[in-house]
Amino acid sequence: MPQSLAFFQGKVVPIEEAQVNVMTHALHYGTAVFEGIRGNWNSVEEKLYVFRMEEHYERLLQGCSMLMLNIPYTASDLCQITIDLLRQCDYKQDLYIRPLAYKSEELVANLKLQEIDSDFTLIMVPFGDYLDSDGALKCCTSSWRRVDDTNVPPRLKISGTYVNGILAKTEATLAGFDEAIMLTQDGYVSEGSGENLFMINDGAIFTPPVSDNNLTGITRDSAIEIANQTLGIEVIERRIRRSELYFADEVFLTGTAAHIQAVGYLDNRTIGSGESGPITSKINAVYQEAIRGNHVDFKDWCTGI
Ligand code: PMP
Repeated sequence: MPQSLAFFQGKVVPIEEAQVNVMTHALHYGTAVFEGIRGNWNSVEEKLYVFRMEEHYERLLQGCSMLMLNIPYTASDLCQITIDLLRQCDYKQDLYIRPLAYKSEELVANLKLQEIDSDFTLIMVPFGDYLDSDGALKCCTSSWRRVDDTNVPPRLKISGTYVNGILAKTEATLAGFDEAIMLTQDGYVSEGSGENLFMINDGAIFTPPVSDNNLTGITRDSAIEIANQTLGIEVIERRIRRSELYFADEVFLTGTAAHIQAVGYLDNRTIGSGESGPITSKINAVYQEAIRGNHVDFKDWCTGI
């Protein structure tokens, strides 16, 4: 039987015992960084494959450095803590793995980062599809602009920053769309509320540069590698105008939770055929094999448990 456990305050405890006090700094100010990592169940091998775990922890540690979250672990320590918890929980299905480094001190009315205690916690939950869609996604351009690097660095997964994406996602879903596409302050395409964005035209693949305030996505990087290695297409990073998306052949989103998902409609206009196009489908097919440890070229992206 799988067990619901957490790594909390330096040890593994039942999830019910992993509780913080209401005075906790991070609860008030969003002074935390997190990761979303997938464990993908391979039913033929009866094995769980964790996708690009080390890269996720390297990004988490960059966020820790940004927010002065002093946690006593290296990326490889964090991988080992995760492997140990996965073994103890013993899930045999797709998982979402959520590490969180946070300002744990019970201290309100203090707006500094220095000299405030930090801690690290880790939980994992069974997780299927994130974007509930029966085909290509229906998206809208958000009226909320993506937070700029001059406000809070959007390249990192800083908890407080997620209010920005959550406002966009809420607006989009209440209006009947699956997902929001956010623009930068000066009107260039940035990303989805929890996904990076790619556009395909005449066989060329484009994605906005990280300097357009999107997250340094690990699925983004994987899609770039797959396009390059298996399709022989070099992805071009350049600024993208909103109206270019309407006339693109294909648009797709990438994210750990979302995987690779075609966008079929934007602002009630059809993109390409309105379905997953040929290049999106090819990249996705390789990606689906890669995340379950089935693709020889990308085996080193996976940690088998
Ligand atoms: N952008 C944002 C804002 C996200 O939250 C995510 C999900 N982590 C992504 C992009 C995709 O990043 P990744 O592929 O590393 O999950």
